[in-house]
Amino acid sequence: SSNSLIVSFGEMLIDFVPTESGVSLAEAPGFLKAPGGAPANVAIAVSRLGGKSAFVGKLGDDEFGHMLKNILNQNGVSSEGVIFDQGARTALAFVTLKADGEREFMFYRNPSADMLLTESELNLELIRKAKIFHYGSISLITEPCRSAHLKAMEVAKDAGAILSYDPNLRLPLWPSAKDAKEQIMSIWERADVIKVSDNEFEFLTGLETVDDEVAISLMHPGLKLLLITLGDHGCKYYTKHFHGTVDAFKVKAVDTTGAGDAFVGALLNKIVQDDSILENEASLKTVLKFANACGAITTTKKGAIPALPNEEEVLQLFQA
Ligand code: ADP
Repeated sequence: SSNSLIVSFGEMLIDFVPTESGVSLAEAPGFLKAPGGAPANVAIAVSRLGGKSAFVGKLGDDEFGHMLKNILNQNGVSSEGVIFDQGARTALAFVTLKADGEREFMFYRNPSADMLLTESELNLELIRKAKIFHYGSISLITEPCRSAHLKAMEVAKDAGAILSYDPNLRLPLWPSAKDAKEQIMSIWERADVIKVSDNEFEFLTGLETVDDEVAISLMHPGLKLLLITLGDHGCKYYTKHFHGTVDAFKVKAVDTTGAGDAFVGALLNKIVQDDSILENEASLKTVLKFANACGAITTTKKGAIPALPNEEEVLQLFQA
């Protein structure tokens, strides 16, 4: 079919990253601006690999919001579904990996523009054109964005889209762990493809290692593919008919930010071209090897969006 559009829904924000590594936020001598937000990263990952991509979400009508919209456009992502809030500002995150290996976050979201997206502001015409509709869970945290998220999912599904879900847990943003778990699971059964990280698997199940039986118990009847990413151990895949592991590529990782989003972008870009890979284990394994290569390359460069590879770069590692 000629329809190959992937629409990603949710937050896009600016990450402020310390100019020096291994320091706390309070000790940072300065910050660098890095565009981020998992669904926006996925949208750009798709486009950089040559796919047709659109982003739907709300930004502040401020310097940062306009900068982010320009980044989408410069990367070939349609911003037809982007709107500006006239009152609230663009979301900001301050993120650091401290010397002790702990991540420290601080967010500007009180409320930020992305949280104020309403149902009536959705570009439904664009959403109906999606062959794949991808989203996370941060847009479920508060109203009115939560209702907009649910409406967008429903419209996409009714129009025949494949729904792709990466909860992308950011626990500090939620009122409580219980709330996060409930909300993440509240839309679990509507997705066709779900990707979680090993850390999210642990959060959802309480298990430190990925157990196949427990993973399979997370499958709902309509789910076509469940993926669990394992960092430098690759990924595990589960369908109704088969499951297994695809090993990671060995690379020198310098910054793993965005690896999961690159992985998802690569996977969706293949599914949109041929969704029969979801039923054929050999084809699926080849696609997941490609997605692992895309994730691996992203870890070899700093930042998320600047590190996302094009198809040629992925193929070079894939074929090596
Ligand atoms: P997330 O960003 O969602 O936590 P992961 O860190 O597991 O996801 O990364 C997604 C994919 O990127 C992995 O499945 C793997 O293929 C690849 N990847 C991530 N980290 C590394 C690494 N250190 N070396 C090689 N590949 C990696």
